[in-house]
Amino acid sequence: MAGSAVQLRFATQLTDKEYVSQRAWNAVRAPRCPWCQPGRCELSPHGFYARVKPRGALVRRFICRTARRTVSLLPDCFAAWVQGSLEEQEETLRSAQGAATQAAAAELARPPGECTVASAQRWLKRRRQWADELLATVKGLYPERFAGVGPTLAGFGQQLGSETVLRTLRAVAAAHLGQLPAPVGFRPARVAVRTGGAERETQETGLSPPPGSG
Ligand SMILES: [Zn+2]
Repeated sequence: MAGSAVQLRFATQLTDKEYVSQRAWNAVRAPRCPWCQPGRCELSPHGFYARVKPRGALVRRFICRTARRTVSLLPDCFAAWVQGSLEEQEETLRSAQGAATQAAAAELARPPGECTVASAQRWLKRRRQWADELLATVKGLYPERFAGVGPTLAGFGQQLGSETVLRTLRAVAAAHLGQLPAPVGFRPARVAVRTGGAERETQETGLSPPPGSG
């Protein structure tokens, strides 16, 4: 039986739309095998998986025939484990920050498929939680770089000289993506599922690399 799939970073400046229009997944080269000794293994192309959004976006996969595990190369424009781009995730958080009340913030963020104010607020709360955790973790990893910087998108943006903090952090913390929470890092977010209940957040088809096969 094949082991689990691993997500790695495809470093790129492309926007999500450019990534699709240029079919940039075809330009992705095999990374070094995460499991084998250097020089012992060359990963083989192993197809693609499709993202839900934007339509037509594919993510390239490779396989280690020795370890029988696959890696997928997620481009910097995409959020990990959730739909859309990192820029879209940031926009949601920033627009919510400017709102006067929690209800107004949830309304501004307009979470997809969340119909009630209560469920929209929960949706937004989860996003704020992972953003808080992300910034705190990055601060801990790079204490000197972020000394005295408040754990907010605005604070980090100023320090990094960037208006797209989440995307910039994907590059800045590239060595630690496995331990950073999604959607910047590749550690899956804790999944809340209440079957039949109002709250439901699962890994939807096409958001995450499927289990290894082959
Ligand atoms: Zn290998």
